[in-house]
Amino acid sequence: MKAYKGRDQQVRLFRPWLNMDRMLRSALRLCLPSFDKVELLECIRRLIELDKDWVPDGTDNSLYVRPVLVGNEMSLGVSRATQALLYVILCPVGSYFPGDSMTPVSLLADPTFIRAWVGGVGNYKLGGNYGPTVLVQEEAQKKGCEQVLWLYGPDHQLTEVGTMNIFIYWTHEDGVLELVTPSLDGVILPGVVRQSLLDLAQTWGEFRVAERRITMKELLRALEEGRVREVFGSGTACQVCPVHRILYKGKHLHIPTMENGPELILRFQKELKVIQYGTGAHEWMFQV
Ligand SMILES: *Cc1c(COP(=O)(O)O)cnc(C)c1O
Repeated sequence: MKAYKGRDQQVRLFRPWLNMDRMLRSALRLCLPSFDKVELLECIRRLIELDKDWVPDGTDNSLYVRPVLVGNEMSLGVSRATQALLYVILCPVGSYFPGDSMTPVSLLADPTFIRAWVGGVGNYKLGGNYGPTVLVQEEAQKKGCEQVLWLYGPDHQLTEVGTMNIFIYWTHEDGVLELVTPSLDGVILPGVVRQSLLDLAQTWGEFRVAERRITMKELLRALEEGRVREVFGSGTACQVCPVHRILYKGKHLHIPTMENGPELILRFQKELKVIQYGTGAHEWMFQV
Protein backbone atom coordinates (compact mmCIF):
# COMPACT_ATOMS: atom_id res chain seq x y z
CA MET A 1 0.00 0.00 0.00
CA LYS A 2 1.00 3.65 -0.10
CA ALA A 3 1.10 6.60 2.28
CA TYR A 4 0.47 10.07 0.85
CA LYS A 5 1.44 13.49 2.15
CA GLY A 6 -1.37 16.01 1.71
CA ARG A 7 -0.91 19.74 1.19
CA ASP A 8 -1.49 20.07 4.94
CA GLN A 9 1.66 17.92 5.50
CA GLN A 10 -0.49 15.22 7.10
CA VAL A 11 0.32 11.66 6.06
CA ARG A 12 -2.52 9.26 5.22
CA LEU A 13 -2.82 5.63 4.09
CA PHE A 14 -5.25 4.66 1.33
CA ARG A 15 -7.82 2.05 2.45
CA PRO A 16 -5.28 0.13 4.58
CA TRP A 17 -8.05 -2.01 6.10
CA LEU A 18 -8.48 -3.79 2.75
CA ASN A 19 -4.75 -4.54 2.70
CA MET A 20 -4.88 -5.89 6.26
CA ASP A 21 -7.84 -8.13 5.35
CA ARG A 22 -6.06 -9.46 2.25
CA MET A 23 -2.78 -10.02 4.07
CA LEU A 24 -4.53 -12.01 6.82
CA ARG A 25 -6.40 -14.13 4.24
CA SER A 26 -3.08 -14.78 2.47
CA ALA A 27 -1.35 -15.68 5.76
CA LEU A 28 -4.09 -18.15 6.71
CA ARG A 29 -3.95 -19.78 3.24
CA LEU A 30 -0.24 -20.47 3.82
CA CYS A 31 -0.76 -21.72 7.39
CA LEU A 32 1.37 -18.86 8.68
CA PRO A 33 0.54 -17.61 12.15
CA SER A 34 -2.48 -15.33 12.35
CA PHE A 35 -2.18 -11.71 13.47
CA ASP A 36 -4.40 -8.93 14.74
CA LYS A 37 -5.23 -6.66 11.80
CA VAL A 38 -5.91 -3.62 14.01
CA GLU A 39 -2.61 -4.11 15.86
CA LEU A 40 -0.62 -4.48 12.63
CA LEU A 41 -2.17 -1.31 11.23
CA GLU A 42 -1.26 0.49 14.46
CA CYS A 43 2.35 -0.78 14.19
CA ILE A 44 2.51 0.46 10.58
CA ARG A 45 1.01 3.80 11.61
CA ARG A 46 3.68 4.27 14.28
CA LEU A 47 6.47 3.23 11.90
CA ILE A 48 5.36 5.78 9.30
CA GLU A 49 4.92 8.41 12.02
CA LEU A 50 8.53 7.81 13.04
CA ASP A 51 9.74 7.97 9.43
CA LYS A 52 7.33 10.66 8.23
CA ASP A 53 10.16 12.81 6.84
CA TRP A 54 10.66 10.07 4.25
CA VAL A 55 7.15 10.60 2.84
CA PRO A 56 7.83 12.82 -0.17
CA ASP A 57 5.85 15.92 -1.12
CA GLY A 58 4.09 16.26 -4.45
CA THR A 59 1.13 14.49 -6.00
CA ASP A 60 3.28 12.11 -8.06
CA ASN A 61 5.12 10.91 -4.98
CA SER A 62 4.33 8.68 -2.03
CA LEU A 63 5.77 6.25 0.49
CA TYR A 64 5.51 2.62 -0.57
CA VAL A 65 4.63 0.42 2.40
CA ARG A 66 5.21 -3.31 2.05
CA PRO A 67 4.42 -5.55 5.00
CA VAL A 68 5.96 -9.02 4.68
CA LEU A 69 5.16 -12.17 6.65
CA VAL A 70 7.55 -15.09 6.29
CA GLY A 71 7.73 -18.35 8.19
CA ASN A 72 11.06 -18.94 9.94
CA GLU A 73 10.37 -22.20 11.73
CA MET A 74 13.54 -24.05 12.78
CA SER A 75 12.55 -27.10 10.76
CA LEU A 76 13.03 -28.58 7.29
CA GLY A 77 9.62 -30.23 7.17
CA VAL A 78 6.65 -29.08 5.15
CA SER A 79 4.20 -28.20 7.91
CA ARG A 80 2.36 -25.35 9.59
CA ALA A 81 4.74 -22.60 10.67
CA THR A 82 4.42 -21.79 14.35
CA GLN A 83 7.01 -19.04 14.06
CA ALA A 84 7.15 -16.21 11.58
CA LEU A 85 8.79 -12.88 10.99
CA LEU A 86 6.56 -9.91 10.20
CA TYR A 87 8.39 -6.85 8.93
CA VAL A 88 7.49 -3.72 6.97
CA ILE A 89 9.60 -2.16 4.22
CA LEU A 90 9.16 1.55 3.52
CA CYS A 91 10.44 3.27 0.41
CA PRO A 92 9.78 6.71 -1.07
CA VAL A 93 8.59 6.37 -4.67
CA GLY A 94 7.77 8.57 -7.64
CA SER A 95 5.60 7.59 -10.60
CA TYR A 96 5.94 3.91 -11.45
CA PHE A 97 6.64 3.96 -15.16
CA PRO A 98 9.49 5.89 -16.74
CA GLY A 99 8.18 9.10 -18.26
CA ASP A 100 4.91 10.42 -16.93
CA SER A 101 2.06 8.38 -15.50
CA MET A 102 0.13 8.75 -18.76
CA THR A 103 2.61 6.76 -20.85
CA PRO A 104 0.70 3.76 -22.23
CA VAL A 105 2.13 0.23 -22.06
CA SER A 106 2.19 -2.60 -24.58
CA LEU A 107 1.32 -6.18 -23.60
CA LEU A 108 2.29 -9.70 -24.63
CA ALA A 109 -0.71 -12.04 -24.54
CA ASP A 110 0.66 -15.58 -24.86
CA PRO A 111 -1.63 -18.38 -23.59
CA THR A 112 1.32 -20.76 -23.07
CA PHE A 113 2.06 -18.92 -19.82
CA ILE A 114 -0.45 -19.18 -16.95
CA ARG A 115 -0.20 -16.99 -13.85
CA ALA A 116 -2.95 -18.57 -11.77
CA TRP A 117 -5.65 -21.21 -12.09
CA VAL A 118 -8.95 -22.21 -10.49
CA GLY A 119 -8.20 -23.99 -7.24
CA GLY A 120 -4.80 -22.33 -7.03
CA VAL A 121 -3.64 -19.31 -5.04
CA GLY A 122 -3.78 -16.46 -7.57
CA ASN A 123 -6.31 -14.64 -5.41
CA TYR A 124 -3.83 -14.30 -2.53
CA LYS A 125 -0.80 -12.03 -2.41
CA LEU A 126 1.95 -14.62 -2.05
CA GLY A 127 5.62 -14.28 -2.96
CA GLY A 128 5.38 -17.57 -4.83
CA ASN A 129 3.01 -15.99 -7.34
CA TYR A 130 5.65 -13.50 -8.48
CA GLY A 131 8.92 -15.46 -8.79
CA PRO A 132 7.66 -17.49 -11.77
CA THR A 133 6.52 -14.36 -13.64
CA VAL A 134 9.97 -12.80 -14.01
CA LEU A 135 10.98 -15.07 -16.90
CA VAL A 136 7.69 -14.38 -18.70
CA GLN A 137 8.15 -10.64 -18.17
CA GLU A 138 11.60 -10.94 -19.78
CA GLU A 139 10.05 -12.88 -22.67
CA ALA A 140 7.58 -10.04 -23.19
CA GLN A 141 10.41 -7.50 -23.22
CA LYS A 142 12.31 -9.56 -25.80
CA LYS A 143 9.24 -9.29 -28.02
CA GLY A 144 9.08 -5.53 -27.59
CA CYS A 145 6.29 -5.51 -24.99
CA GLU A 146 6.44 -3.89 -21.57
CA GLN A 147 4.10 -6.13 -19.59
CA VAL A 148 2.38 -9.51 -19.72
CA LEU A 149 -1.34 -9.87 -20.33
CA TRP A 150 -2.19 -13.04 -18.46
CA LEU A 151 -4.69 -15.21 -20.33
CA TYR A 152 -6.56 -18.17 -18.89
CA GLY A 153 -8.53 -21.14 -20.16
CA PRO A 154 -9.27 -22.47 -23.65
CA ASP A 155 -11.28 -19.30 -24.41
CA HIS A 156 -8.26 -17.11 -23.56
CA GLN A 157 -9.88 -15.04 -20.83
CA LEU A 158 -8.12 -11.79 -19.98
CA THR A 159 -7.23 -11.96 -16.29
CA GLU A 160 -4.53 -9.49 -15.27
CA VAL A 161 -1.83 -7.19 -16.64
CA GLY A 162 1.55 -7.90 -15.02
CA THR A 163 0.77 -7.24 -11.37
CA MET A 164 -2.29 -5.14 -12.15
CA ASN A 165 -5.99 -5.89 -12.53
CA ILE A 166 -7.41 -5.23 -15.99
CA PHE A 167 -10.32 -3.01 -17.02
CA ILE A 168 -12.05 -2.42 -20.35
CA TYR A 169 -14.25 0.59 -21.04
CA TRP A 170 -16.31 -0.19 -24.13
CA THR A 171 -19.69 -0.56 -25.66
CA HIS A 172 -20.66 -4.13 -24.85
CA GLU A 173 -22.09 -6.49 -27.50
CA ASP A 174 -25.57 -5.60 -26.21
CA GLY A 175 -24.99 -1.93 -27.11
CA VAL A 176 -24.61 -0.71 -23.51
CA LEU A 177 -21.63 1.47 -22.51
CA GLU A 178 -19.84 -0.27 -19.65
CA LEU A 179 -16.74 -0.60 -17.55
CA VAL A 180 -15.87 -4.26 -17.11
CA THR A 181 -13.25 -6.17 -15.13
CA PRO A 182 -12.96 -9.93 -14.52
CA SER A 183 -14.94 -11.15 -11.51
CA LEU A 184 -13.15 -12.49 -8.42
CA ASP A 185 -13.46 -16.15 -9.41
CA GLY A 186 -10.26 -17.41 -7.79
CA VAL A 187 -7.67 -16.48 -10.44
CA ILE A 188 -7.94 -12.73 -9.90
CA LEU A 189 -6.07 -10.83 -7.19
CA PRO A 190 -8.63 -8.69 -5.32
CA GLY A 191 -6.88 -5.35 -5.86
CA VAL A 192 -7.60 -2.38 -3.62
CA VAL A 193 -7.42 -0.02 -6.60
CA ARG A 194 -9.66 -2.41 -8.59
CA GLN A 195 -12.31 -2.20 -5.86
CA SER A 196 -11.89 1.57 -5.63
CA LEU A 197 -12.42 2.11 -9.37
CA LEU A 198 -15.55 -0.07 -9.24
CA ASP A 199 -16.79 1.89 -6.21
CA LEU A 200 -16.14 5.28 -7.85
CA ALA A 201 -17.77 4.30 -11.16
CA GLN A 202 -20.75 2.86 -9.29
CA THR A 203 -21.34 6.12 -7.41
CA TRP A 204 -21.14 8.14 -10.65
CA GLY A 205 -23.86 5.92 -12.13
CA GLU A 206 -23.09 7.13 -15.67
CA PHE A 207 -22.45 3.78 -17.33
CA ARG A 208 -22.83 0.09 -16.48
CA VAL A 209 -20.24 -1.34 -14.12
CA ALA A 210 -19.72 -5.08 -14.57
CA GLU A 211 -17.60 -7.86 -13.09
CA ARG A 212 -17.57 -10.65 -15.61
CA ARG A 213 -15.37 -12.97 -17.69
CA ILE A 214 -13.78 -11.24 -20.72
CA THR A 215 -12.32 -13.29 -23.61
CA MET A 216 -9.85 -12.38 -26.36
CA LYS A 217 -12.54 -13.24 -28.92
CA GLU A 218 -14.83 -10.61 -27.42
CA LEU A 219 -12.03 -8.03 -27.35
CA LEU A 220 -11.01 -8.76 -30.97
CA ARG A 221 -14.59 -8.37 -32.14
CA ALA A 222 -15.07 -5.15 -30.18
CA LEU A 223 -11.83 -3.75 -31.65
CA GLU A 224 -12.99 -4.67 -35.17
CA GLU A 225 -16.34 -3.00 -34.60
CA GLY A 226 -14.74 0.11 -33.06
CA ARG A 227 -16.48 -0.37 -29.69
CA VAL A 228 -13.38 -0.24 -27.45
CA ARG A 229 -12.73 3.11 -25.73
CA GLU A 230 -10.05 2.39 -23.13
CA VAL A 231 -8.12 -0.58 -21.78
CA PHE A 232 -6.11 -0.13 -18.58
CA GLY A 233 -4.50 -1.81 -15.62
CA SER A 234 -5.02 -0.88 -11.96
CA GLY A 235 -2.70 -1.32 -9.00
CA THR A 236 -1.11 0.49 -6.08
CA ALA A 237 2.19 1.07 -7.89
CA CYS A 238 0.79 2.87 -10.96
CA GLN A 239 -2.84 3.46 -9.88
CA VAL A 240 -4.31 3.46 -13.41
CA CYS A 241 -2.15 2.55 -16.39
CA PRO A 242 -3.29 2.86 -20.05
CA VAL A 243 -2.73 0.02 -22.56
CA HIS A 244 -2.18 0.91 -26.23
CA ARG A 245 -1.07 -2.34 -27.83
CA ILE A 246 -1.47 -6.11 -27.38
CA LEU A 247 0.68 -8.71 -29.14
CA TYR A 248 -1.56 -11.76 -29.61
CA LYS A 249 -0.94 -14.74 -31.92
CA GLY A 250 1.89 -12.84 -33.63
CA LYS A 251 -0.26 -9.81 -34.40
CA HIS A 252 0.02 -6.36 -32.86
CA LEU A 253 -3.47 -5.17 -31.92
CA HIS A 254 -3.77 -1.43 -31.59
CA ILE A 255 -5.93 -0.36 -28.63
CA PRO A 256 -7.29 3.19 -29.12
CA THR A 257 -7.02 4.13 -25.41
CA MET A 258 -4.95 7.28 -25.96
CA GLU A 259 -7.10 8.51 -28.86
CA ASN A 260 -10.10 8.46 -26.54
CA GLY A 261 -8.72 10.97 -24.08
CA PRO A 262 -8.16 8.73 -22.25
CA GLU A 263 -11.22 10.28 -20.69
CA LEU A 264 -12.05 7.67 -18.06
CA ILE A 265 -8.43 7.01 -17.03
CA LEU A 266 -7.77 10.72 -16.52
CA ARG A 267 -10.95 11.06 -14.49
CA PHE A 268 -10.03 8.09 -12.26
CA GLN A 269 -6.51 9.45 -11.75
CA LYS A 270 -7.84 12.87 -10.85
CA GLU A 271 -10.48 11.52 -8.44
CA LEU A 272 -7.98 9.22 -6.74
CA LYS A 273 -5.50 12.08 -6.29
CA VAL A 274 -8.18 14.30 -4.77
CA ILE A 275 -8.92 11.55 -2.24
CA GLN A 276 -5.30 10.51 -1.57
CA TYR A 277 -3.71 13.96 -1.30
CA GLY A 278 -6.84 15.73 -0.08
CA THR A 279 -6.90 17.42 3.29
CA GLY A 280 -10.46 16.44 4.13
CA ALA A 281 -11.25 13.33 6.13
CA HIS A 282 -12.32 10.99 3.34
CA GLU A 283 -13.61 7.67 4.66
CA TRP A 284 -11.03 5.79 2.53
CA MET A 285 -8.10 7.57 4.17
CA PHE A 286 -6.45 6.57 7.44
CA GLN A 287 -4.57 9.37 9.16
CA VAL A 288 -1.05 8.58 10.35
C1 LIG B 1 -0.99 -6.45 -6.08
C2 LIG B 1 -1.62 -6.96 -7.31
C3 LIG B 1 -2.68 -6.29 -7.95
C4 LIG B 1 -3.17 -4.94 -7.52
O1 LIG B 1 -3.61 -4.88 -6.22
P1 LIG B 1 -3.75 -3.46 -5.49
O2 LIG B 1 -4.24 -3.79 -4.14
O3 LIG B 1 -4.73 -2.66 -6.29
O4 LIG B 1 -2.38 -2.85 -5.51
C5 LIG B 1 -3.26 -6.88 -9.06
N1 LIG B 1 -2.83 -8.06 -9.53
C6 LIG B 1 -1.81 -8.72 -8.97
C7 LIG B 1 -1.37 -10.02 -9.54
C8 LIG B 1 -1.17 -8.18 -7.85
O5 LIG B 1 -0.14 -8.83 -7.30
